[in-house]
Amino acid sequence: MFFALFRDGEGCKSYILGCEETCAAAIIDPALDLVDRYIGEVGKQGLRLRYIIDTHTHADHFSGARALRDHFGAPIVMHRFSPAPYVDLHVEDGHSLPLGAMRMNILHTPGHTRDSMAVHVADRLFTGDTLLIGGTGRSDLPSGDPDQLYDSLFGKLLALPDETLVFPAHDYKGRDNTTIGAERAANPRLARSERGAFVELMNSLNLSAPTHLTEALRTNMSGGKTVRQLLAEAGARVPFLSMGELRHRLEARPNDFIMLDVREKDAFAAGHVPGAVHLPRGQLELRVNDILPDPGVEILAICEFGKISTLAAATLRDLGFARAAALDGGMAVWRESGYPVEQSPQ
Ligand code: FE
Repeated sequence: MFFALFRDGEGCKSYILGCEETCAAAIIDPALDLVDRYIGEVGKQGLRLRYIIDTHTHADHFSGARALRDHFGAPIVMHRFSPAPYVDLHVEDGHSLPLGAMRMNILHTPGHTRDSMAVHVADRLFTGDTLLIGGTGRSDLPSGDPDQLYDSLFGKLLALPDETLVFPAHDYKGRDNTTIGAERAANPRLARSERGAFVELMNSLNLSAPTHLTEALRTNMSGGKTVRQLLAEAGARVPFLSMGELRHRLEARPNDFIMLDVREKDAFAAGHVPGAVHLPRGQLELRVNDILPDPGVEILAICEFGKISTLAAATLRDLGFARAAALDGGMAVWRESGYPVEQSPQ
């Protein structure tokens, strides 16, 4: 079996597994941040990606499933209970998916989320967040249920042979894997094998909410884009102008380009680059033709930190202003650099 393990910076783990005979491969729990690394690995190993699997709706990170589907064209696989509209292949307990000469067997393991599943391939079990190394997934996030988690753990996963290798979707201590036997023997969450005691333990954990909870759930459940994705997409098709270059241009040829400050009115009035024209981002599409009648003009979008101006420059390019760019760093860096600022009456 071809096997590769990936970690992102926040303890999320993802896996590529492949059949050595046929080169058919699957990826499990891909993170958006690592998409380029997966693509590199699949190419380097000469694999053909057949399945993109999310073991559940993640609440703590952005799934890379759709970005990988865009690249490889492989179907996104999730449990039948997944609410995400972009899933191509819904599976349920007992289903198996062929992966070359191997079989990936699906076990429905609700509790962490209602759509949680484990994937069992040969000697390995990919447990998502149901069973972790020395722990279990939490059951207090949306669609979680400690009673169901009890059944999934004690009724399903712990019933597998002791030597089964366990690869979870998270580990915060850098460990690669464990076994069913090791977890049954030493996992403190599994020490209380009566249902009532387990449920009581899970309900008493009082964990803090993961960062990005709302945005991650919204994005992973609905298929919407993340703010980071929007920025990355815009940034990939917009050129940037540095502070020094802008300063130089203002001295050398101040009249052959337009600086468009896209911040709100108050921020613009409090201080902008001398000569900048004001058009808030929210009014860009509706008013840009009044302010910039010539689509051939060179435009420099300026905002506070260089992010909204990136989106604005991308929008301007969509509208036909092919020479729109964004000021790298925005007004915050401009002021810090001690460059001149002009104020205007409110
Ligand atoms: Fe999770």
